[in-house]
Amino acid sequence: MSYTPNDDPAQEKRDLLAAVVEARRELHDIREEVGERFGAEFSAVFNTHIQILEDHGFVARLDEEVATSGNGLTALRTVLDAYRQLFEGIEDPFFRERGSDVEDVVRRVMAKLLGVRHHNVPLSDGAVVVAENILPAHFALLETERIGALVSEHGGPTSHGAIFARNLEIPAVTGVPGILTAARPGELAIVDGGTGQVFLSPDDVLRAEYERAKQRFAIAVEHLDALRGRRAETRDGRRVLLTANVGLVSDLRLVERHGAEGIGLFRTELLALAHRGFPSEDEQAQLYDKVAAALAPHPVTIRTLDLGGEKTLPNIGLGEEENPQLGLRSVRLTLFHEKAFRAQLRAILRASVHRNVRLLIPMISCVGELRRVRALVEESQRELAERGVAFDPELQIGIMIEVPAAALTADTLARECDFFSIGTNDLTQYTLAVDRNNERVAELYEPLHPAVLALIDRTVRAGSRHGLPVSVCGEMASHPLAVPILVGLGIDELSATPGTVPVVKEIVRALDSAEVAADAREALRVGSAEAVRCIAAARLRASGLLDHPDIGSWLRTNLESRTTA
Ligand code: PEP
Ligand code: MG
Repeated sequence: MSYTPNDDPAQEKRDLLAAVVEARRELHDIREEVGERFGAEFSAVFNTHIQILEDHGFVARLDEEVATSGNGLTALRTVLDAYRQLFEGIEDPFFRERGSDVEDVVRRVMAKLLGVRHHNVPLSDGAVVVAENILPAHFALLETERIGALVSEHGGPTSHGAIFARNLEIPAVTGVPGILTAARPGELAIVDGGTGQVFLSPDDVLRAEYERAKQRFAIAVEHLDALRGRRAETRDGRRVLLTANVGLVSDLRLVERHGAEGIGLFRTELLALAHRGFPSEDEQAQLYDKVAAALAPHPVTIRTLDLGGEKTLPNIGLGEEENPQLGLRSVRLTLFHEKAFRAQLRAILRASVHRNVRLLIPMISCVGELRRVRALVEESQRELAERGVAFDPELQIGIMIEVPAAALTADTLARECDFFSIGTNDLTQYTLAVDRNNERVAELYEPLHPAVLALIDRTVRAGSRHGLPVSVCGEMASHPLAVPILVGLGIDELSATPGTVPVVKEIVRALDSAEVAADAREALRVGSAEAVRCIAAARLRASGLLDHPDIGSWLRTNLESRTTA
């Protein structure tokens, strides 16, 4: 954009300072809004941005530069360049990362000076956000209620950003090659989160078709939500606990609205991502307490930090790893940062006074790790007792089964924990050696692969031998074709995306436990995911689900796109 400075240098300086003030005001508004939506913890990043604009050195530098050049935009560019050089020379990754904060802030001031709105705030209602990747951190920064859909050039359907989007009921399509260059600002687009299709500048016929589909979907959701009090049990009375996966406090209203019976997985990473570091014990305790109190007496399963992989943070010493998914990730990372881990364990224990909290440890690959975590939990309990802080002494400790080694040694692990939760997103990735974030191998990413099913089966059997409940909390628990197979394998609890809970419940209610048990045995015998999908599709059809007044047509479309491989 071209920019013509004022002839009067004094006016140019006033304009520049006014742009700084306006940018600051905007940041205050955003901080408040994000704080209201997600809690004050999540708005921390904006404090840093405001501090930069309030920094005397920064403003004095701008002052000097505008006096020299007589051009506000040039002054901003010069200051930005100087800061860039300064930050690029810093070795510590945490402080180097602060350079992007300065960049963000200066761009915001530039936008004010040019009289345009900053590129990512505010969004218009129903906006389709197109990005290189959908990252979990985006949800702490974007105006999520305004977003109509998210589309990314890279990433896979179970990358964490895509999962967060679905949790918030935002349709998200990942791995669309060329979308960043093809889509133009202001262009109309249809994003079909169900089939993964994106239509740019659709014609009137397609638009009308999707308007109708959207209306039908809204009516079906309303009907199903009205039935949220019904139990999730099979036709012959087998109970399946139906819980929800949650990552933000704002998701809690969805848990209630869609009739989930608790939280099967509370992902705690967002707070750390918003903070860009490990949050303090008190901040975490406040958050967990809010969630546990809101849900009591229903269960709330809090998972300890699962950082690393694609959920990187600049200041936790991750560095550049060649294979981050196989590196210092998840429980390996928290055991490495013991002090931060202890703070989180104490925070979870403090929330356990509500007597509905369960502690979940991610990515366990051997019994030694589990023992180390248990020892830390015991020490944290002793510390709290000494401080006179109350907690649940009978807190249940469970582990995620998401590494094949854990599934294969489930008997050993079962002796030392209280429940299993199968993380099929990672279990699929690690069993099939398919990066869950890589769109180039997304076709191979197949949770219904018989190898994955065999590991689930082994886990369920070990659980039942030792009297442990077994849940599935990966995205698979939300997939219509996976539900009959998982119920047939004997899973006790399905923790799904909140918005899909009513659909999963309808499916469970239409099944017969003996029939799906036979289907599951057959699924373990056949040779491919396609064959498993056919078995599941036949069951949904035979159970009358394709004629269901609310979900029938949606299921039919879904099955068509997934059983024609
Ligand atoms: C999983 O791996 O299935 C899981 C639920 O954990 P996440 O998706 O957060 O890795
Ligand atoms: Mg996982």
